[in-house]
Amino acid sequence: MPRLISFVIPVYNEAGSLEELHRRLCRVLEVYPSLAREFVFVDDGSRDDSFARIAAIGVNDAGVRGLRFARNFGKEAAMAAGLRAATGDIVVLMDSDLQHPPEVVPQLIEAWSRGAQMVTAVRRSRRTDPLARRLFSRGFYQFFRLMCEVDIPEGAGDFRLFDRRVVNAINALPERNRFMKGITSWVGFQQAEVDFEVAERTAGVSSFNFIRLLRYAVDGLSSFSMVPLRVWSLIGVGLAALSALYGVYLIFEALFFGVKTPGFATIMVSTLFLSGVQLISLGVMGEYIGRIFTEVKQRPLYIVADEVGYVPAAFPL
Ligand code: UDP
Ligand code: MG
Repeated sequence: MPRLISFVIPVYNEAGSLEELHRRLCRVLEVYPSLAREFVFVDDGSRDDSFARIAAIGVNDAGVRGLRFARNFGKEAAMAAGLRAATGDIVVLMDSDLQHPPEVVPQLIEAWSRGAQMVTAVRRSRRTDPLARRLFSRGFYQFFRLMCEVDIPEGAGDFRLFDRRVVNAINALPERNRFMKGITSWVGFQQAEVDFEVAERTAGVSSFNFIRLLRYAVDGLSSFSMVPLRVWSLIGVGLAALSALYGVYLIFEALFFGVKTPGFATIMVSTLFLSGVQLISLGVMGEYIGRIFTEVKQRPLYIVADEVGYVPAAFPL
């Protein structure tokens, strides 16, 4: 049995659901009387009074800690901060909007006690998501599997239980561009899965609109795949070979059938097509160079502006 369980909960404008989340988690943990608990709420620059609510919950529960970011740094940064702050033997990462039901936690612990070092809660259906988003996610996962060396199970969100060793491994990764779904699969370890049914959001709205999801997808792909960089040399070779064949054909045509009025269409099409290909490949380069740029700047992933609750001596800000 673990001695201390930590919950890492990124919070962005979720004032309406925090109390219920805390209450339900506490109720679920009643069956483990010997298990100490810690809640690490990371307020990712909320514009509502989420942080005040966290502080209020902390008044009656000494295990509550809150960090507040200086602005909205994104969910990936919030998760990274929470994992660094957590001190438990096992750490559960979950959303704060109650879409990840606390009642699944005992199953995660159960799978851990059978030997898994990372337990992923996989959503059984996506019926709470709009159709467009479902299609987008499905396409993204398939594309990701095709392009990247790490495999992410479809439907695996950020609802996970980690053993302390896994948390240490993740915390040791230096990169600034975080893509948790890829990282968790990249580190390896003994993994297990548990099914769950995603609940409807109880309050507020999802903060992931289409642009943000697209950004997320591009981030994920370019953090874990070299294929977009490499594919251009292949396409270049293919195009060059085709042009060479076409050149040979043109020479023969000129030699044996004389010069016809040359085709405007051919030139236009090939020029336009090639410039399109070049622009795309430039864009891909840009994506990776941008990534190098953010890494070499060595900026921190996030800035903590405020804290409530106890701060363990070993906690590195
Ligand atoms: N979140 C965050 N920072 C952000 C956006 C979201 O910490 O910039 C948190 C949010 O509070 C929630 C979780 O990430 O706990 C998932 O967000 P959301 O419910 O909006 O996404 P969805 O469930 O639609 O994927
Ligand atoms: Mg949600």
